[in-house]
Amino acid sequence: MSNTATNNRETMGFQAEVKQLLQLMIHSLYSNREIFLRELISNAADASDKLRFEALHNASLFENDSELNICISYDKTARSLTIVDNGIGMSRDEVINNLGTIAKSGTREFFSRLSGDQQKDANLIGQFGVGFYSAFIVAEKVTVTTRRAGEKTDQGVRWESDGGGEFAIEMIEKATRGTEIVLHLREGQDDLLSGQKIRSIIRKYSDHIVQPILMKKEEWKDGEQQVLEEDETINQAFALWARPKNEITEDEYKEFYKHVGHDYQEPLAWTHARVEGKQEYTQLLYIPSRAPFDLFERDTIHGVKLYVRRVFIMDDAEQLMPRYMRFVRGVVDSSDLPLNVSREILQESKDIEAIRSGCTKKVLGLLEDLAKNDQEKYNKFWGEFGRVLKEGIGEDFANKDKIAGLLRLASTHADTTEETVSLADYIGRMKEGQDKIYYITADSFNAAKNSPHLEVFRKKGIEVLLLTDRVDEWVVSNLSEFQGKSLVSVAKGGLDLGQLEDEAEKKEQENVANELKDLTEKISKSLGEKVKEVRVTHRLTDSPACLVADEHDMSANLARLLKSAGQKGPTSKPILEINPKHPVVLRLKIEEKRFDDWASVLFDQALLAEGGQLDDPASFVKKVNQLMLEMSSN
Ligand code: ADP
Repeated sequence: MSNTATNNRETMGFQAEVKQLLQLMIHSLYSNREIFLRELISNAADASDKLRFEALHNASLFENDSELNICISYDKTARSLTIVDNGIGMSRDEVINNLGTIAKSGTREFFSRLSGDQQKDANLIGQFGVGFYSAFIVAEKVTVTTRRAGEKTDQGVRWESDGGGEFAIEMIEKATRGTEIVLHLREGQDDLLSGQKIRSIIRKYSDHIVQPILMKKEEWKDGEQQVLEEDETINQAFALWARPKNEITEDEYKEFYKHVGHDYQEPLAWTHARVEGKQEYTQLLYIPSRAPFDLFERDTIHGVKLYVRRVFIMDDAEQLMPRYMRFVRGVVDSSDLPLNVSREILQESKDIEAIRSGCTKKVLGLLEDLAKNDQEKYNKFWGEFGRVLKEGIGEDFANKDKIAGLLRLASTHADTTEETVSLADYIGRMKEGQDKIYYITADSFNAAKNSPHLEVFRKKGIEVLLLTDRVDEWVVSNLSEFQGKSLVSVAKGGLDLGQLEDEAEKKEQENVANELKDLTEKISKSLGEKVKEVRVTHRLTDSPACLVADEHDMSANLARLLKSAGQKGPTSKPILEINPKHPVVLRLKIEEKRFDDWASVLFDQALLAEGGQLDDPASFVKKVNQLMLEMSSN
């Protein structure tokens, strides 16, 4: 940041990302410019909530004025719009941090995803959240004056910027606490200088705001509109979630979501209920229609807000929702918790546990309902948040079966990532005699789809789930069965197709294994420490060999995942299985001179085929070339 100081006025440069964000916002949101007012009112409402909460412990913060409200006015001559709140306000440092930088985790990554294509980037900006900076859509200059509640009157701060690269900041006298934002409108924005227009924008986007939004009354007199001294409240000014469901319109629910979710897009679905009984609380929980860009950051914010008897207590009360539901947004309003509840108390509170379990069930119920009655929506949900929900299989023992029922997985049935199957559907179309759910894990869809491990399954027409998310290893290690059917990896343990094979097939396999006993022993000796065992398989139809993990060993895919994450798992050796009908294997039976090279190539290619990496690729290539040359000279 560059500083040039005169008196106490300083000019500072925006963080580079802010500049980019401003440009992007002005261009991409222009057609939707009215949302700036929603964003500023939303911030003012949050500031009032914060003050009310802090004042629970320190009533002097109210400075003898505990009527929290938001005032909107306009000035035709100055061509400005003003938004005033008497909320918590900001100190100088807070102004610099909040209005000069973007303090969100994952910001850099977000910006690296911008393509320069306005249409595409406009979509991304929705994921990022627009907030305060949206003021520059309509304003060529924005002046913010603010003073933090409880500070002396000379601790006011003025911040001013034209949205270019810099902002000016200076200390000023400010009698009232809270924040005033003056927007000096751009050319062509004069239609906003109308009481009627502003009222209609407020009613459309901010009706649900709990604090009264005030404007001066106006009346027509002598053919002109007169602004009177008296205030009137424009919005309903009543907590939306506390109103009866049948009195709330879809649009109201949607607009409220944009406020609590800090989202610019509409929600995908929501559930609103008042829970009575031992614990009394109201929950209004939303599922966003798009994942925020920082869903996988450890410290994502803006989850579910906690209120106690309509007083805001905290944002992102992580105890209200399990981690695997961190995509849920909304409000929980408890009638029983004490107003002075802290994060520490929440962590140990049995009441909160009951609320969390109630909210979790409610969201799972909502998802089940979508899955059943609105597949298109459910698929959309799954595409955005499926990977997060999967974490619940290992995290939430009590709801494991419910979550398993919500899984949607790719499979060999369609061989695409788009078309997925639920475990129940999988079971529904199992082959006669099939009593297991088969799956393969791999680090890419192609690796899974083309894996040699699937050959016999394809031949017999048995469906196999293709699991390629990182989290899938965690899912299958925590989900051993679904509706009484066990989940079995096709790349682990001995292959037991049970009833799917007849007696004759089994007998033949045994015979072949005996016949090739010498060969498997010889290969095993040649490969030495690389393998745990070498055996004949009936898994393969086209490939000469594949690797499998022993029943209780870690899967090769998981071992690779851990390695790439820099962690060391227990190292276990694979089992090499060979296809007794494959010409290469048959050829090996008679090979003498180059047996070791053949065996080594057989092992290495099996490793490559399942997406593994060779320790010594150069020597593999050399051996292959050598063998090719020999073949061609024969
Ligand atoms: P967001 O609201 O999503 O955090 P914004 O860019 O809208 O992002 O605002 C950034 C921060 O500036 C807010 O989190 C808040 O701390 C502060 N802020 C904005 N407007 C106000 C206001 N009217 N009163 C107090 N603080 C404010």
